[in-house]
Amino acid sequence: MNEHAVVIAGGGPTGLMLAGELALAGIDVVIVERRANQDVDGSRAGGLHSRTIEVLDQRGIAERFLSAGQVMQVQGFALIPLDISDFPTRHNYGLALWQSHFEPILADWVGELGVPILREREVVGFAQDDTGVDVELSDNTSLRAEYLVGCDGGRSLIRKAAGIDFAGLDPSTSWMIAEVEMDEEPEFGFRHDSVGTHAIGRREEGEPIRVVLTERHVEHTGDPSMDELREALIAVYGTDYGVHSANWISRFTDMSRQAASYRQGRVLLAGDAAHVHPPQGGQGLNTGVQDAVNLGWKLAQVVNKTSPESLLDSYHAERHPVGARVLHNTMAQVALARADDRHQALRDTMTELLGMDEPRRRIAAMLSALDIHYDLGEGHPLLGRRMPDLDLHTADGPKRVFTLLHDARPMLLNLAEPGGFDISLWADRVLAIDAEYGGDWELPVLGHVAAPAAVLIRPDGYVAWVGDGTDTGLRDALTTWFGSR
Ligand SMILES: Cc1cc2nc3c(=O)[nH]c(=O)nc-3n(C[C@H](O)[C@H](O)[C@H](O)COP(=O)(O)OP(=O)(O)OC[C@H]3O[C@@H](n4cnc5c(N)ncnc54)[C@H](O)[C@@H]3O)c2cc1C
Repeated sequence: MNEHAVVIAGGGPTGLMLAGELALAGIDVVIVERRANQDVDGSRAGGLHSRTIEVLDQRGIAERFLSAGQVMQVQGFALIPLDISDFPTRHNYGLALWQSHFEPILADWVGELGVPILREREVVGFAQDDTGVDVELSDNTSLRAEYLVGCDGGRSLIRKAAGIDFAGLDPSTSWMIAEVEMDEEPEFGFRHDSVGTHAIGRREEGEPIRVVLTERHVEHTGDPSMDELREALIAVYGTDYGVHSANWISRFTDMSRQAASYRQGRVLLAGDAAHVHPPQGGQGLNTGVQDAVNLGWKLAQVVNKTSPESLLDSYHAERHPVGARVLHNTMAQVALARADDRHQALRDTMTELLGMDEPRRRIAAMLSALDIHYDLGEGHPLLGRRMPDLDLHTADGPKRVFTLLHDARPMLLNLAEPGGFDISLWADRVLAIDAEYGGDWELPVLGHVAAPAAVLIRPDGYVAWVGDGTDTGLRDALTTWFGSR
């Protein structure tokens, strides 16, 4: 039986990102993936939000994605556009990049880091004991791991086999989605009727036509057929526009469910395996990638025996509320999209509200995940929030904060007198950087905050401790997050 420190079930966006994070920390990790290659069937995520671009920037790979997509203002709440170009981030925009392009780029990075992907195989079961997990594969082989992470999507076998409750709402609406050719020129754009909102569009000139239709019934089994698509087009537009040559036809719903627990002993869940919700606001892939970045360094430290297993509890404590908030805002967006005069009045009211600065900033910061605030207790506003990508002056010349995070190592950034802290006991784990920064400290939504004297930054880019000129609380924070000495 092959042994690995961590087995990841599922090599989608979440599993790939987690594998990269673990590999950066030197962990022996393997992905088991059902698909033969990284091709993505049908329409999935259409792009990245600002915080996901930042997270990729923290690893030095943002440019690979930026150069493959189109930078634009992508945020929208129930299709009400929200501009973030005034946000205090280097990436004050989103990225239009289809998941079918995103995944191969991420997979290349994971390949460069040497992570093996066992393809055309499925995890079909597991059994955990005190020291590890036996992972059963569909080819009748098995793997032994210290930890198993289910990144195996919304229908997660790992979640089901672990018996973790997937609580939430059944679907209220179903949408049919297809990529097709049409003999006649269709009505491009949105159409609202008593059933809901429908849309026909083309990504680019010369490309196939994309159709999204709200369906009259919620209950279906399996993917829709060409005949069903024709019927649905006629029901909405009075014609099927001579539709033919479908590249794919599928459907999605507004089912909203979240795993009651992201961890059960040596088994963890991340991404769609932990939360499913409708695509409104485009947050699914982004949330999964950020789950992975939260979990990766913690799991690495537990496997390395740098930290106790209890560090893994902070993964659920931090990411479950973020997932719950995504479910909540997508429910609101689905409700706002209902097709009747009263909901239209509500949409008009929301459009007016979101035209005002403060509501726009709050909702856009939520959708782009720039406002995430992990509850690390009372203190400076930076505590538990993302570290801004400042332009620093260091002894080695100018450096961006995110550049210093490329290796996914924690960092004590001292902005006061050089050499002011003695963290030699943690020297093998935590980078100590003396730097100067004379600019503003501005956070999304909160605006200007007082300049700190020092900050302790976790590998995921969140601030674990803020110094006021003394080292009060620093040892405790170092011990909590990066193990005792
Ligand atoms: C129509 C639609 C539109 C969307 N639009 C957006 C958007 O605009 N923005 C956004 O952020 N998100 C969007 N999403 C959501 C996004 O596609 C998902 O959130 C994202 O793919 C989740 O990534 P994941 O890696 O967690 O899961 P998945 O992408 O589902 O990956 C799971 C992987 O596990 C593999 N697998 C499954 N079971 C097993 C097993 N037992 N053993 C081994 N491998 C297994 C699968 O083959 C797959 O590769 C959309 C989704 C849909 C359906």
